[in-house]
Amino acid sequence: MSTPQSREQWQQMADSLSINGQAFINGEYCAAVSGETFDCISPIDGKVLAQVASCDLADADIAVASSRAVFERGDWSQMAPVKRKQVMIRFASLLEQHQDELALLETLDMGKPIRYSTCVDVAGAARALRWSGEAVDKIYDEIAPTAHNEIGMITREAVGVVAAIVPWNFPLLMACWKLGPALATGNSVVLKPSEKSPLTAIRVAQLAIEAGIPKGVLNVLPGFGHTVGKALALHMDVDTLVFTGSTKIAKQLMIYAGESNMKRVWLEAGGKSPNIVFNDAPNLQEAAIAAASAIAFNQGEVCTAGSRLLVEAGVKDELIGLIAAEMQAWQPGHPLDPDTTCGAVVDQQQLDNVLAYIRSGVAEGASLVQGGEQVMAESGGVYVAPTIFANVNNQMTIAKEEIFGPVLSVISFEGMDDAIRIANDTIYGLAAGVWTSDISKAHKTAKALRSGMVWINHYDGGDMTAPFGGYKQSGNGRDKSLHAFDKYTEIKATWIAL
Ligand code: NAD
Ligand code: MN
Repeated sequence: MSTPQSREQWQQMADSLSINGQAFINGEYCAAVSGETFDCISPIDGKVLAQVASCDLADADIAVASSRAVFERGDWSQMAPVKRKQVMIRFASLLEQHQDELALLETLDMGKPIRYSTCVDVAGAARALRWSGEAVDKIYDEIAPTAHNEIGMITREAVGVVAAIVPWNFPLLMACWKLGPALATGNSVVLKPSEKSPLTAIRVAQLAIEAGIPKGVLNVLPGFGHTVGKALALHMDVDTLVFTGSTKIAKQLMIYAGESNMKRVWLEAGGKSPNIVFNDAPNLQEAAIAAASAIAFNQGEVCTAGSRLLVEAGVKDELIGLIAAEMQAWQPGHPLDPDTTCGAVVDQQQLDNVLAYIRSGVAEGASLVQGGEQVMAESGGVYVAPTIFANVNNQMTIAKEEIFGPVLSVISFEGMDDAIRIANDTIYGLAAGVWTSDISKAHKTAKALRSGMVWINHYDGGDMTAPFGGYKQSGNGRDKSLHAFDKYTEIKATWIAL
């Protein structure tokens, strides 16, 4: 079937889709041991899409044992890297062959526009798998600079069983940022998708088998975080826990690790990223286009969202006007319409959170320039208009807390030092944008920013070749690039006397 070209065609495809909500353990789909399920509700229209297995401790035990057994047998962990590479590339190709189906599942499940779930989410997920696979037979170990009568070998080995707990904003993409390097390096993975977006993870488990990944190497456990996620985080036989999600849960996972087996914990958490526009920005129109996209893309449900726009006093009013105009291109629409740029937020609870933040902005004295309300309520779904607040100061709740919705806080500053001070005055340190024509100012600001990613004269750049992750309470470790491989390998020093 060729790729649908209209909302009607996507809807037809959705109507004929059979959606699987089961867990996937040791190469088979199965119900949760308890038999419990929960409703998977589409935020597009409030309809129930599927019953999804509600896994808990019992399922975690079975999945971890299955992952451990295959790791010990070596079917995958001891396969030559060049062979694992070939399988990973097949896995990536299978994602691409199922791009429409996977994109549709993602859009139905969490409300993002179909135009992005195809070319951002599924395409990016496939790229992560392929890039990691292609890399793995090109990485060499080290020999220490020893005396003549000895050899010091420094080798990397797979850690063993990895539990991956991922969020709902880019469900398949975040999963594949973990699966790529984790699987390529020979580990077994138990993947726990968010209860808000389990469908694509469940579907790709079967594609992994079709690609030739042995049974048990990838197990998928849908279920609520505090039951099955906690069970994995406390599990005595999970070697490494990798996570993308909120800072609050990230901190909890460190506690679980300390309370159990001191499993390694790698965290990609929240952000409140500053996007800094100086008076000498090379092109204010381009800065406005990027600033709008930085807060409205994916309904603002982006860890790197440019949620604090720091603008120098001289261009403030002009820039706000340009962004307000640009927001017309980001008004919510039906997510299956290929023209829609902004879809539904993930669920009713998230809508309530976003609206509560908007009320707090008004209550604390920020000026509402645009948006601020729920829209398209007649659809039965949950949509919110992109919202701009001006006259925000950095101490207001909307400037301090991650909203995870399309709500922009505009904060004005005077000069570079002031910009840097405000930018760094946050518990987070994920990303930042800097707009200036002055190369020295660009570099000085970039160096002074306490954040894992800095974008100069654009916003949200990068690909698989560059690491992704944050400073401070935005996390530790990095996804993407060869640096991601560090999370999935232990270093062994073998010293040989000759
Ligand atoms: P969340 O922390 O609520 O949930 C993330 C995952 O953790 C989900 O799978 C959830 O089920 C699970 N979980 C919840 N409670 C748990 C517990 N007690 N034990 C174990 N697991 C538990 O986050 P979310 O709302 O799904 O995602 C949004 C967050 O993700 C935002 O804060 C966003 O900034 C962050 N995020 C970060 C990055 C990054 O790379 N830094 C990327 C995307 C999203
Ligand atoms: Mn959902």
